[in-house]
Amino acid sequence: MSGIVLHVRQGFEDDAGRELDHFLSLAGIHAQSIESKTDTALVVVAMSPDDVPKARQTIQYNNLIFARQLLWLADTVTLPHEGDRVAPIAEFIKDTLLRAAGVNAFSGFFFETPDTDTSKELTGFCKSLSRPLENVLNKMKLLPKGKGAANLPRIHLIMTSNKTVMVAFADVINSNSWPMGIPRLRFPANAPSRSTLKLEEAFHVFLGPERMKTELKSGMTSVDLGACPGGWTYQLVKHGMFVTAVDNGSIDSKLMSSGLVTHLREDAFTYRPYDMVDWMVCDVVEQPAKIADLMTNWLVKGYCRNTIFNLKLPMKKRFEEVDQCLTELKARCRSAGKPVEVKAKQLYHDRKEITVFVRRIDS
Ligand code: SAM
Repeated sequence: MSGIVLHVRQGFEDDAGRELDHFLSLAGIHAQSIESKTDTALVVVAMSPDDVPKARQTIQYNNLIFARQLLWLADTVTLPHEGDRVAPIAEFIKDTLLRAAGVNAFSGFFFETPDTDTSKELTGFCKSLSRPLENVLNKMKLLPKGKGAANLPRIHLIMTSNKTVMVAFADVINSNSWPMGIPRLRFPANAPSRSTLKLEEAFHVFLGPERMKTELKSGMTSVDLGACPGGWTYQLVKHGMFVTAVDNGSIDSKLMSSGLVTHLREDAFTYRPYDMVDWMVCDVVEQPAKIADLMTNWLVKGYCRNTIFNLKLPMKKRFEEVDQCLTELKARCRSAGKPVEVKAKQLYHDRKEITVFVRRIDS
């Protein structure tokens, strides 16, 4: 079997499958089957091996909002009940995966499970196979070190039971570099809410390390709509920004003592800044269309240069809802002569929501 496997958030398999099918159709590729069983946290697409090279060129991980990882699946390997479980995996990598990826070696490998509670019990098993597999792959000279090796595709082994492992690979520049697409971010002890990690992850995902240095700078101005208790404000303050925190609730007192925060008990839908701010972020719980409309107004009227906001998605047909909101946002900005760059992802720290980054490209 050849095709695609996506890691996705549990419960979002159907949306991720429909989104991927949309992009495959745009590329003129017909999927033989799309398996997106609820709560498996995986989407598995079977396609003709002849279509894989074209799909590999056209399907972009960054364009897939609901995918946490994009992998090229070679097949599922069945492991023996006892004895050497590593040998069949290593043989399959040598005999089939190298050819499927079109390379002579790989940059490394991740042993993974679907991101579900029931799969957690397989984590120990994965760990027990990891070192022996590394030794075997090194002996086979399939994991070279040195110049250029880091750009080779990466092996992904997804353990779906203690007898079955999906063997796939990722193109390093067209995938998520964290195992299972899960970032390792530490919750800061002083942060007022866990949702601080959502904004921190968003900065890593949408800006990356280089742009974070130039676009999150001390002295910049920002507005946090729906700020309380202050997890997102905490991130802006961490980068030394001045923050206007707009919310009727109570904000964390430690943030106020930073001297960088002004708390306004106002309505996010009517508040307007005096001058254009560098960043506006928004975590208000409202219908996606209403939030997208508010964000568009800020961009079109020139109230902010960059924005990061959440679209909460408690409804069915989330892919269609998101697609409509973002298509409209882009079209309104374009026709107002304010073109924008838009990136959207369901981040690991997002629950029933996605995070969107928009930057005015004329500013
Ligand atoms: N990002 C925050 C954090 O990290 O701590 C959490 C935000 S919480 C999910 C949503 C907040 O939006 C609530 O504090 C609520 O009071 C605020 N909110 C909801 N509707 C609002 C409105 N119309 N104007 C201002 N704030 C609003």
